[in-house]
Amino acid sequence: MTVPVPSLVMTDLPTTVHELMPGLRATLEELIEIPSVSAGGYPTSEVRRSAERVRDLLVEVGAQDARLLEYPDAHPAVFASVSGPEGAPTVLLYAHHDVQPPGPSEEWEMEPFEAFERDGRLYGRGASDDKSGIIMHLGTLLAFGGKPPVNIKVFVEGEEEIGSAHLSGFLDTYAELLRADAIVIADSGNWRVGEPALTTSLRGLVACVVEVRTAKHAVHSGMYGGVFPDAITTLSRLLATLHTDTGEVAVPGLVSNESDPLDLTEEEIRSAMGTVPGLSQIGSGGLTSRMWTKPAIAVLAVDAPKLSEAINQLVPVARAKVSMRIAPGQDPSDAMGALRTHLLDHVPWGAQVTVTSVEAGEAFQLPLAGPTVDAFRSSMEEAWGRKVVEMGVGGSIPFVADFSSRFPDAAILLTGAGDPTSAVHAPNESQDMDDLEKSVLAQAMALDKLGPK
Ligand SMILES: [Zn+2]
Repeated sequence: MTVPVPSLVMTDLPTTVHELMPGLRATLEELIEIPSVSAGGYPTSEVRRSAERVRDLLVEVGAQDARLLEYPDAHPAVFASVSGPEGAPTVLLYAHHDVQPPGPSEEWEMEPFEAFERDGRLYGRGASDDKSGIIMHLGTLLAFGGKPPVNIKVFVEGEEEIGSAHLSGFLDTYAELLRADAIVIADSGNWRVGEPALTTSLRGLVACVVEVRTAKHAVHSGMYGGVFPDAITTLSRLLATLHTDTGEVAVPGLVSNESDPLDLTEEEIRSAMGTVPGLSQIGSGGLTSRMWTKPAIAVLAVDAPKLSEAINQLVPVARAKVSMRIAPGQDPSDAMGALRTHLLDHVPWGAQVTVTSVEAGEAFQLPLAGPTVDAFRSSMEEAWGRKVVEMGVGGSIPFVADFSSRFPDAAILLTGAGDPTSAVHAPNESQDMDDLEKSVLAQAMALDKLGPK
């Protein structure tokens, strides 16, 4: 006969997790120091080394079957499981071990791949996105000392930062291995430092390359300039049609909704972006609506001669990558179609324009109801001692739609230890260590509530 211990464990979880933190922090430092950049041009061996280290760490916290999952041409993912009591539900814990490139080194106040602490925050590429997610899962397993109250599976992807291109392949190949009753994705974040949040919606993303050609080859701009246009000017005029004069997205027919304004201020966004003085807002409606539930268009890059290579010529061809975030409820191929039609309808001066779609990811609305969500919400409220904010996220996580279409019956929950000052994908990325401790604690308490009573 087994003695029921959950209530004892519950009382002890805050102490247990608190005592685990120095070790978890050392592990986070170690993971930051593996430069697991998944983007092309960076050594793939470091992504593999990071996967192997995560696998070994999972073995150390009691997952005997921890292993790398491979898929052709993909960076390795990591899988592990630890069984809970008979009849317990299975919860899959997701994080990713790959990181963004560090970006311009002169903008970092420290070395991107050397962990550095200041004012209770740990700095370094991946400190928050998403090595803090790996720490949440390792910490949760450690808190239960190898005997979790539910069956736990851990899946740590290695390609999230490059769009999870092989994820559906991984999910097809390893469907049975990954099957779960609930999926907890630790790759979002909190509302503010000390203010816990669950994420309710994600925008989707489409992107295309627009090529504008005005001539077969370049000619002398002094001799011919003034009769026919150059490609850069033509491309600039075309790109300018994507917004109205007030900065409203001008592409017709896109899904657009309002969302809860919460207590977000313009100042917070200005400070997060470091906007120049006098920069005005674009678009209309609430700040959260514009970031979470309305489309937004940005030009990400332009191919044209560099300034250092400029000569007096009429440039015959120029290209731009245009990215459009799409609202929950918007079909990505409809959105891409609307963007393409708009671009082709606004070609200036009879230039030759081609539009090539290069990316499409679905938006997602997460239903915040059911036992898994209830367990996380109440545990987060206990861990932080304040109400959970329900927030949207303007970014996209392809994993969410992929997983929900494979396992439509599984509850999906989006959480994470970071906050708006974590500077993910930017220089000086950091993670608040107190929020990380509360995130580990809340997840452990939530799983405890989901176990058989
Ligand atoms: Zn991430």
